[in-house]
Amino acid sequence: MKRMGGATLCFRYPQLRDCAKKECPLNNGESSYRMEYEAVIGLETHVQLRTQSKMWCGCPNQYGSDPNTNVCPVCLGMPGSLPVPNEEALKQTALAGMLLNCDIPARAKFDRKNYFYPDAAKDYQISQFELPSNVGGYVEFEFEEGIQRVELNRAHLEEDVGKSFHFDKFSGVDFNRAGVPLLEIVTEACITSADMAYEYLNALKDILIYGGVSDCDMEKGMVRCDVNVSVRPKGSTELGGKIEIKNMNTFSGARKALEHEIERQIEDVTNGKTIPQSTRRWDDVAEITEEMRSKESAHDYRYFPCPDLMPLEPSEDWLADVRTRIVELPLARKQRFVKDYGIPEGDAETFKNDVPLGDYFEGIAKDAKNPKGVANLVINNLRAKLSETETDLASLKFEPSAVVQLVELMDSGKISSKIAQDTFVLMFKNGGSPKAIVEEKGWVQESDEDALGAWCDEAIAANPGPAEDFRNGKEAAINRIMGNVMKLSKGKANPGAVVQMLKDKLKC
Ligand code: ADP
Ligand code: MG
Ligand code: ZN
Repeated sequence: MKRMGGATLCFRYPQLRDCAKKECPLNNGESSYRMEYEAVIGLETHVQLRTQSKMWCGCPNQYGSDPNTNVCPVCLGMPGSLPVPNEEALKQTALAGMLLNCDIPARAKFDRKNYFYPDAAKDYQISQFELPSNVGGYVEFEFEEGIQRVELNRAHLEEDVGKSFHFDKFSGVDFNRAGVPLLEIVTEACITSADMAYEYLNALKDILIYGGVSDCDMEKGMVRCDVNVSVRPKGSTELGGKIEIKNMNTFSGARKALEHEIERQIEDVTNGKTIPQSTRRWDDVAEITEEMRSKESAHDYRYFPCPDLMPLEPSEDWLADVRTRIVELPLARKQRFVKDYGIPEGDAETFKNDVPLGDYFEGIAKDAKNPKGVANLVINNLRAKLSETETDLASLKFEPSAVVQLVELMDSGKISSKIAQDTFVLMFKNGGSPKAIVEEKGWVQESDEDALGAWCDEAIAANPGPAEDFRNGKEAAINRIMGNVMKLSKGKANPGAVVQMLKDKLKC
């Protein structure tokens, strides 16, 4: 697929789309005859907060219940019912603000966003318009070999609305989701590609999960994203007409929709068309966007302050209490693992994504001489076994220190890595210390010259071809003979010593 920045045209004669080609008479090689476009993207992401109950009533914030069972007069929008703010949702919102580097203003308030639609029985949605709970902020993440920053405009609190269902002969609305607390995180228009948008969304999700602010379970619709995108001549500082694609519920869907939409817009402007501001829908099957309606703007909603709710004025004590919940961010954790333990980026990434496994590693790596070896064993052996047996760290039969001991046995040359694997399998199955297992099985690595010499002689005699090849300069041929020695010794021969001995024997 053609990406951003690939399209060119002659801006003197836009109808001549081929002017970038050599044979085009207008293409005299000066860059002023060609125009490149860049994408400008801003995202509005709605995330359900992890609370026991809804935002303004005591109904459970629960997924998967029968339709309209988690409802009451408040979340059904019955006349005369009054909202009471959920304290935990307010704290989660402030915590999210802290984790996203936002300012938390001294005063925030709730507004009614008025519109008529069956999913909002009140005919308005409670949101925050003028004075949101969190202002500014940014998200940092790894992108294209570096650290990218996406600036945020705000992260405000609002309520979810009901969900419409359309059947053969009728439609229905399920209000279980109505009144569930949502955090809406709005970026500045500073994202420049579909891939960057995708990585930002993943980073945002990781941060909110780390903080316990949301489970961000995509399959349960806990994260939904509106993408706004426009194109403009590269280098221009003005924004082009924006298209909004609403309600994307997967990140890969958002990326695909953006890729498609960027290309469509570039195609249009290249053909001299202007892009009218509008809302489009992404058709996931046909993989195209189609026009829904021309864009409404804020004044159509007639926002006004919600008379039922007091403004929020968080006290210092209240904020200090929220601050105790701040956690290390995913990116910081990854960077710290690389720095403190000297482990490869890939391993640190694994520990970033699998927090319990990373915590387990960290618990033992502190006492290890070789944290890199420990990481290797935890990821390649322990994690593999856990998923193979569908068990978790809580049910491990061996002590965490056993992992360190096993790595040390290997590092000191007492056992080979092959024996270490076998020891781990037994340790995982039955518990116990690696030292005891190795001794009991008689697996201590053999470094005795006579024993090694006998195995080497036997292996050379059994592999005349590879021996000849090695003598003729084919170094790799030694591996065959080496394999034979390991087999003869049942994995106990010290590999380093064997290689040296084989080379000596084959050379003379
Ligand atoms: P609206 O009121 O239409 O929702 P906002 O100004 O609140 O628009 O912006 C919504 C999102 O769209 C923000 O993330 C913002 O950065 C982004 N945005 C605004 N204008 C543009 C544009 N011309 N191109 C791309 N994104 C834009
Ligand atoms: Mg919008
Ligand atoms: Zn309710």
